Amino acid sequence: MSALPLADFDSDAQLPHLPVEARRSQGAPLTAILQEVFGYTAFRGQQQAIVDHVSTGHDALVLMPTGGGKSLCYQIPAIARHRAGYGVTVVVSPLIALMHDQVGALEEVGVHAAFLNSTLSLEDTQRIEREMMSGRLVLLYAAPERVTNLRFQAQLASLHERGLLSLFAIDEAHCVSQWGHDFREDYLQLSLLHERFPDVPRLALTATADDQTRADMIERLQLQDARVFISSFDRPNIRYALVEKDEPRKQLLRFIRDEHDGDAGIVYCQSRKKVEETADWLNEQGITALPYHAGLDASVRQKHQDRFLREDGLVMVATIAFGMGIDKPDVRFVAHLDLPKNIEAYYQETGRAGRDGGQADAWLTYGLADVVNQRRMIDESPANDDFKRIQRGKLDALLALAEAHDCRRVRLLAYFGEASQPCGNCDNCLTPPATWDGTEAARKMLSCIYRFWQHGRQRFGGGHLIDVLRGKQTDKVAQYGHQSLSTFGVGAALSENQWRAVLRQLVALGHVVAEGEYNTLSLTDSARAVLKGEVQLTLREAVELPRRGRAGKAEGSGGASAAAPADLNGAALARFTELKAWRAGVAKAHNLPAYVVFHDATLADMARIAPQTLGELAGISGVGAKKLQAYGNQILALLNP
Ligand code: ADP
Ligand code: ZN
Repeated sequence: MSALPLADFDSDAQLPHLPVEARRSQGAPLTAILQEVFGYTAFRGQQQAIVDHVSTGHDALVLMPTGGGKSLCYQIPAIARHRAGYGVTVVVSPLIALMHDQVGALEEVGVHAAFLNSTLSLEDTQRIEREMMSGRLVLLYAAPERVTNLRFQAQLASLHERGLLSLFAIDEAHCVSQWGHDFREDYLQLSLLHERFPDVPRLALTATADDQTRADMIERLQLQDARVFISSFDRPNIRYALVEKDEPRKQLLRFIRDEHDGDAGIVYCQSRKKVEETADWLNEQGITALPYHAGLDASVRQKHQDRFLREDGLVMVATIAFGMGIDKPDVRFVAHLDLPKNIEAYYQETGRAGRDGGQADAWLTYGLADVVNQRRMIDESPANDDFKRIQRGKLDALLALAEAHDCRRVRLLAYFGEASQPCGNCDNCLTPPATWDGTEAARKMLSCIYRFWQHGRQRFGGGHLIDVLRGKQTDKVAQYGHQSLSTFGVGAALSENQWRAVLRQLVALGHVVAEGEYNTLSLTDSARAVLKGEVQLTLREAVELPRRGRAGKAEGSGGASAAAPADLNGAALARFTELKAWRAGVAKAHNLPAYVVFHDATLADMARIAPQTLGELAGISGVGAKKLQAYGNQILALLNP
């Protein structure tokens, strides 16, 4: 534990009650705290309004996307109110595994914080309880089951009696809703806080925003009088790209090598087996990758999570079991090798990239098999018909996103009820895909499937279908006499790739279904309108992907400069590399992830500007008073040898 900001307070002494209002009239203390403690120049988005509201003792519900900056929304009021004599802020968080690092980050900036959970020794627990009961602690993190237990409630009551219970922050508040996918029974008990301590302000925060969950949070946490702050869900620094699956592993490798050499990233796969295989394969290719899925031992999972958070440039290959609460700011890409379930899941998973605001990629590869699999999983699930209908609707929305030829972001935000303009930072905006009128091609394909059935009462898969359309003389064609079909060879003008795209889109649109072990194709009722020419189909031009052996579009992505900001070169790059090595040493000594010491962006600024005095160093974003004092001279010595 670092020096206590209020260490001279006797633990039994009553802290002075200085109303926040009185202090606020002396200037803009909340911005001053932001600058002094965190070293940031300005609040982002709605942060200012939120911290103003909460610091003055009002309740709030904050809906903000991942990476939007929720932590500061309760940390700044906690600090302000503590300085004004209001005592301790209690932060309810469901993620015990992450508390250590959250608290470590606060102590690094000189804010006295601690956590209470089952991993602590009795001695440590007692020490932290003393810190809390004295009112010295600024923030205390605890899981909901702890907050609601009898012993802790008695402690809160004692604090409250002495005017030292400042604020409740309820993180991941959507866990209180049964509609959300992260429901926790213990969250239901949290309404107790309001019942027992009605005058203590409460702040609930979440990145999950649908109407149902919001209504649930308000009701179950009794936040009817809270002001609701809804931020835009846009993540402008994330570049979205959804590409056609060709040879997915090679595509992934090319993507990582060309765009993210040496970067930290997450690769999502659907099955445990595929997670293991993909991680093995990446390692064979020289990219350090760790597997993570629910089938691994808890200790292995914890170890891999810690390594991902603490080491630079690791790739985590994972099922969706990985990710909630991971606040590593410098994840530079999130790749999907399989189609997620729906747009909500896709957005939440990709949102883990670029929390630091730096350029990041959300990259997904999908193909016919993904579409078929997702449809089949819904059809074969034991759920009732209503539920299946909703799931199908959600899958359709995701497929429409994947096949879209216009801005991805406009579609994503529209899905969450937000209107926007083309973004200029997605694949479709950057390289608008050529489109073509696929109506005729679709009719040829549908009628060929129909002819198969008419000819021999048989169904076939996509490969044979495309061979017949292109007029290929294969053994199978000869065996079934398909060269005699009127559709044989009518599609010779299109490439195999183009035909695959037509088929994928027909399946995505629900005109064709693929069934059984061999994915044999048949028509649905809606195919009739297409066959009759009543429906117009505009299709994306199939992109001809580079093949084996051909190098990608890498432009001088040198190995040594891996993951360095692109604009650093020469001396600045050398300084950046040295700063990173120095940071790794500090992080190791403090048993914390490197980003807790300084973000990459802060190191990059130091390398670029090369400050010569403590005053200049203090001007860099991310350098607050405590870090300046603790590390300033070391950094100056390193930058000015
Ligand atoms: P969330 O919890 O909403 O996902 P965080 O609180 O982890 O987001 O914040 C994301 C990142 O943005 C963090 O690294 C944080 O330090 C940084 N950040 C938040 N607010 C600001 C700000 N006003 N200025 C600069 N950086 C900020
Ligand atoms: Zn766009």
